[in-house]
Amino acid sequence: MAPISRLAVVAMLASAAFVNAAPILAPMASDAAAPALTKTDSLAAAPGSWNSELSKRGVVGTIDRCTTVGTVALTFDDGPSNYTNELLDILARKKVKATFFINGQNGNSIMAHKAVIERMHKDGHQIASHTWSHQDLATLSVTKMTEEMTKLDNAVKEIIGVRPMFMRPPYGSTNPGVLSLLKKLGYTIVLWDQDTNDWRHPKEVDISFKVYEKALGEANAINQPGHIFLQHDIHEYTVTKLAGMAIDYALEKGFKVVTVGECLGVANTKWYRK
Ligand SMILES: [Zn+2]
Repeated sequence: MAPISRLAVVAMLASAAFVNAAPILAPMASDAAAPALTKTDSLAAAPGSWNSELSKRGVVGTIDRCTTVGTVALTFDDGPSNYTNELLDILARKKVKATFFINGQNGNSIMAHKAVIERMHKDGHQIASHTWSHQDLATLSVTKMTEEMTKLDNAVKEIIGVRPMFMRPPYGSTNPGVLSLLKKLGYTIVLWDQDTNDWRHPKEVDISFKVYEKALGEANAINQPGHIFLQHDIHEYTVTKLAGMAIDYALEKGFKVVTVGECLGVANTKWYRK
């Protein structure tokens, strides 16, 4: 029997993803597998099929990869935590930007980390919503869902004066109702194409780092649409070890390490609203 080419497998997986629009839920309280994307809901269903102008660079829709070749977006979810300030030190030292999908109340209280959020903003990182209390949006009523978004937005506005327009659903979990409401509310939904799974093995940084090596190490990787990497700044070694290793590796391979907004070509004036 002829071997199935890698391309054929990718195509099969992609078509299976379109058929199965139901989100795959993570079993634990962290972000795991991204949900399957539907053709209508994804601007980035497959590499090479990017929406030509990403809705004139305001996006609003679902994305899971960067559109700018040679860019890499490091994303950190579930914080801020007591480790986040150290992460900001590392990012400053290495002169790169990242994106933070923050919660209001998820183990840590947002108001206990006001200074760190102010610094994130001042340092030029992108602050995005990960909802108020990290609930699975697909299980909530429209009222509850709206509350999860506006409560976090209002807290962020209190701290930095503006409300985020980019968001990531907890667990990457959505359904057609969630997607339609989020779009109606004006959010760009950011998933990921590279999952470090750091929450599964928070101390085994090498396993997470291999995800970077695999995605960025291939000879032609730099000529492809960039990758969005998922990890969590609530894990000590993700901050103190993985972040620095990942940034050094990406830079060494010639990538630009930027925010999600920048890797999509969205001007920073469109990352937030009043
Ligand atoms: Zn999360």
